[in-house]
Order: sequence, then C-alpha cells, then structure tokens
Amino acid sequence: MMAELLKGLEVTKAMREKMIFEVEELNSMGITPTLGIIRVGARPDDLSYEKGAVKRCESVGVKVKVFELGENISQAELEEKIKEVNNDSLIHGILLFRPLPAHLNEENIKFLVSPQKDIDCMNPINIAKVFAGDESGFAPCTPEAVVEILDYYNIPVEGKNVAVIGRSMIVGKPLSMLLLKRNATITICHTRTKNITDITKNAEILIVAAGKAKLVTRDYISPGAVVIDVGINVDEKGNLCGDVDFNSVEEVAGKITPVPGGVGTVTTSVLVKHVIKAAKLNNLA
Ligand code: NAD
Repeated sequence: MMAELLKGLEVTKAMREKMIFEVEELNSMGITPTLGIIRVGARPDDLSYEKGAVKRCESVGVKVKVFELGENISQAELEEKIKEVNNDSLIHGILLFRPLPAHLNEENIKFLVSPQKDIDCMNPINIAKVFAGDESGFAPCTPEAVVEILDYYNIPVEGKNVAVIGRSMIVGKPLSMLLLKRNATITICHTRTKNITDITKNAEILIVAAGKAKLVTRDYISPGAVVIDVGINVDEKGNLCGDVDFNSVEEVAGKITPVPGGVGTVTTSVLVKHVIKAAKLNNLA
C-alpha cells in the first residue's frame, strides 16, 4: 500500500484560519502585528523568500515593512538600523536575511536582534531556550514546521523512537530538542554515524535533514514508518526534490511528506505565526 501523503498545504490552511482569528483579536486592541524585514542588497534568493513571506503575512492581516539596505553598508550602519528597528514599537518581529555580505560580521549582529522580536531564532538566547525546553522564545521556523505537521496529522511522538538525520543548528539539533521536549526518544544521525540503516529501520518516525538529494531509500525504512523530508535539492533533471527517494520510500512508509509541498510550505507560515506571537509578547506580556 502507498504511504499517506502529509501535505503541507493542509497544515498551512489550518494555521491560516487560526492566525486570522488571532490577528483580528489583536486588531480589536489597536495592535497590527508587523514584521520588519531587514535586507542587505538584493540577492535573488532573498527576494524570492521575501515575496513569499510578504504574501503569506498579508493573507492573514500581518503588515510587513521592508528595510532595504545597500550591499556596501558598514557594520556600524547595519547595527544602528537593527537597534532602530528593535526600538520601533510598531514593529513586532524582525527577519534579517542571511548570509550577510562577507564584510559584515554576523557573530556580533545576532546578539543585537532583540530576543522578543527575534522571530527567526537568530539570537543565541532563543536557541538556548529551545535547548532548555523553554517555549517562551522563538524556535527556528523549519524544525517548528515539522512539529506543526506532526501535530496537524495527529502523529504522537511521546515515547516513540525518532531518528533525525542531520545535526545542523538550523534543523537537526533544534528539531531533536523540540521532539525531546515532547518526550520522544531521539537518535541523531550524521555523516560519521555507523550502520545508519540499523538506526533508521528501528525508527517509528524518521526525519531527514541531510541536504543530500534522494539519500534515503526504502532500505532505510521500517514498514509503516512516518517519514518527514526536510531536504530541498535539485535533481539531475533540474527538478526540486527532497533528501528522500520518494518513489522508493512511499511503497514502504506509512506516511510521508512530499517535496515540494511538504515541510517547506509550512515553514513560512511558522514565520508568520511567530510575528503574531511577538506582537502578543511585546504588547500583552
Ligand atoms: P547542513 O548541510 O548544515 O547539515 C546537514 C547535516 O546532515 C549535517 O549534520 C551532516 O552531518 C548530515 N549529513 C549529510 N550527509 C549525510 C549522510 N550521507 N548521512 C548522514 N548524515 C548526513 O544542512 P541544513 O541547513 O541542516 O539543511 C538540511 C536540508 O534541509 C537541506 O536540503 C536544506 O536545503 C533543507 N532545508 C529546508 C528548509 C525548509 O524550509 N524545508 C529549511 C532549511 C533547510
């Protein structure tokens, strides 16, 4: 039997309805949740992400203000701009596109974004909160998108054997912490992991964030397992594909996310959700 598809679009629809309601509530208190995007230069990747984020924000009534800064801006000028946006009470969440141009020092800057407005989990305070199991901050959007998908499809993680392939600070590690907080038993796999299929075949839920096109085949999966594919790659034909070899795995897995149309679709909605959370944090807390 073919695996059930876990569609990102269904998750975003449900999130959208909830967010519209929350924005209306804030509007009734005179608050318009607002995202401030700080973009240095005009890299096509950033512009494309920005377009998607603006559209998703506006669809639920979240306002967006874009601060476009010259590619050659100095460290001091960028730091000044971040402080200005931090202090702007009408902006609740800040998204700073990275990587920054090479002459700018990201290490200094990540500490500057106010933790209460840091919707993209740039500030180490928010990362530390994820590792401490403290949900008052902002987790990175992609790991949280995975949790949203599991929740929407009523896939419990408590007590489950979960394998995560990938240990980056953007996806693998924080995701493992979010699932640990929900009482899953986590095994983190990486490039030095020995006999990886012994581990993944023992997993009831397998989450793949390796950045290697079609790495995971049916040989990695136990029958009926839930497979969440975080990867975004381009295959030999130029098509978007995940880290999971979908055609091979869908015949064995119980449930599977597609790429495109899976985790990536939900990630932008989590960003918008964070702006609304920030608006509440900055006004109601
Ligand atoms: P990364 O390169 O920083 O980390 C990859 C991790 O996978 C490393 O920890 C590495 O040890 C591990 N790994 C690589 N090859 C492996 C192998 N053969 N066996 C076992 N482990 C292996 O990548 P990242 O930033 O964490 O991103 C991972 C993937 O997720 C990429 O495809 C990226 O494009 C995608 N991504 C998607 C979203 C989204 O919104 N869907 C967001 C961020 C990243």
